[in-house]
Amino acid sequence: MQRLFAQGQSSRDNSELAFTDPLTGLGNHRRFSDKVERLISERAEDPAPFAVGIIDLDGFKPINDLFGHKAGDEILVQVAMRLRAAMDGHSTVTRIGADEFAFLFPMVFSEEAAAEKARMLIEILSAPYDVGARSARLSASVGCSLFHSGDETTEVLIHKAETALYRAKRSGRGAVVIFTQEMEEAAKRVTRIEQALRRAVSAGDVEPHFQPIIDLRTRRTIGFETLARWTDPDLGPVPPTTFIPIAEERGIIGPLSQLVLRKATEAACHWPQDLFIAFNLSPSQLVDQNTGLQILSILGRVGFNPRRLEVEITETGLMSDPASAGKAVEDLRRSGIRVSLDDFGTGQSSLGRLRDFHFDKLKIDRSFIATMLEDRPSEHIIRAILAMCEGLGMDVVAEGVEQEAQADRLLQFGCRGGQGFLFGRPVDADTTLANLRGVQRMAARA
Ligand code: C2E
Ligand code: MG
Ligand code: MG
Repeated sequence: MQRLFAQGQSSRDNSELAFTDPLTGLGNHRRFSDKVERLISERAEDPAPFAVGIIDLDGFKPINDLFGHKAGDEILVQVAMRLRAAMDGHSTVTRIGADEFAFLFPMVFSEEAAAEKARMLIEILSAPYDVGARSARLSASVGCSLFHSGDETTEVLIHKAETALYRAKRSGRGAVVIFTQEMEEAAKRVTRIEQALRRAVSAGDVEPHFQPIIDLRTRRTIGFETLARWTDPDLGPVPPTTFIPIAEERGIIGPLSQLVLRKATEAACHWPQDLFIAFNLSPSQLVDQNTGLQILSILGRVGFNPRRLEVEITETGLMSDPASAGKAVEDLRRSGIRVSLDDFGTGQSSLGRLRDFHFDKLKIDRSFIATMLEDRPSEHIIRAILAMCEGLGMDVVAEGVEQEAQADRLLQFGCRGGQGFLFGRPVDADTTLANLRGVQRMAARA
C-alpha cells in the first residue's frame, strides 16, 4: 500500500502532468482529491450521497518479484485499462499508490450499491493478465466510504475508505468493506488500548498468571501454563484475547513477552525443580529471527534451566512463513526448550505439518473437550489425535477440562495430560507459590 508522492510538482504544478500518473495515464492522487473536493462543494446545495473507494491489489509484490518490474508495470497498465473501461460517464478512477487505485462514484447513493460496484471491479480484475508468454492472476481488496453530509471533508472521506480497506485486507483476499461508524469507534478503542498497553509494558505492569497442567492418572501437577494478565487503571482488566492481538499488530509483542517471561521464570525459580512452565509465543515472534536469542538471554539472566521451559505455538504461527518458523522451532529445541503445538484442531494447517516439524507435545483444543461427552465426532477426533500422537512419540495435553466425566473419559482413551478449570484456574505468582507449599505440607503430613 505504498503511496506515490510529489509527482510533477513546482513548475509543472498547474499543468495536466501534475494530475496524471505517468505509467498508466490515469489521474493521480491529486486529481482524485481535486475531484472529490469539487463534488463535495457541488453537493453542499444538494446533499445527495456519493461513494469513494480504494482498491488495493492483493499480493502484487510477489508478482513483481517473480515476473520482474517491467512485467509488474505491464500488469498495472492492464489493471488501469480494465478499471477505466468499467467506469460510466460520471465516475472516475485514478492511481493513487504503487498498487492502489481510487474511484469516485457520484451516482452511487447507498452502501449496498457501493459494495455491488466494488465487487464488480474485483471481478473484472480477477481475470488472468498476459505477461509475455505467461499469465498471472491477481485479486484485489476494496474499502469504501459514503459521503452523507456537508461536514465531511475530502481527507475524512479518504481516511474512512482507508480504514475500511485496512479491515478488508485483514479479512483476507478479495474482500469489500464499507466504512461504518462502529468501525471508527472500534479503531479509537484499539488506539486507546495500544497506548495504555505501551505504558503498562514500560512500567512492568503486565503480570504472569499460572494455570496447572496435570498428569491425569495421578492428578499431580507437572507444570504450569503462563497466561498474561493486565489491568489498566482506567480501562479495567483487559483480557489477553483483546490485548495480545493488539500487541502483535502494533509491534509491542516483543517487549511484552520478554517482561512476562522474565517475571514467570523468576517466579518458577521458587518452585520444585521438576515443574515446567509453558509459555505462549505469538505468530509474529516465530518469524522473528531474534526471538530464540532473546528467550535464551532471559533464561540466562534469571538462571532458569531451558529444559524446564516449553513454548506453545499455534498452527497459524506456522502457516505464515513455514521456513522461518521451522528454523525457530529447531533453534529452540536445540537449546533444550520443548515446543508444543497449541489449540490443535482449530487452525487450517494440514497434518503434513506434524511430519515436517518436530513437536514435543500437542494440546488438543478445548472446543473438542467441551463437546466430547455429547458429540460423537468430537470423541472420535480426540481418539484419533491420541493415536496419532502415540505413533509420533508426542505428549498430549487436553485443554479446557471442566468436568470429572471429561477427565475420566480422557484417561480411558489414554490421554496423559490435562489442563482446565477442573484442576485449577490461572492465578498469580504468590497464590501459585502458596498452593504449591500447601501441597508440599500435605504430602509431608501424609
Ligand atoms: P491458550 O494458550 O490456548 O490458553 C488457554 C486459555 O484457555 C486461557 O485463556 C485459559 O484461561 C483458558 N482456559 C483454561 N482452562 C479453561 C477451562 O476449563 N474452560 C475455559 N472456558 N477456558 C479455559 P486466557 O488466559 O484468556 O488466554 C487466551 C489466549 O491468549 C491464550 O490461549 C493465548 O493464546 C493468549 N495468551 C495469553 N497469554 C499470552 C502471552 O503471554 N503471550 C502470548 N503470545 N499469548 C498469550
Ligand atoms: Mg497456550
Ligand atoms: Mg491453548
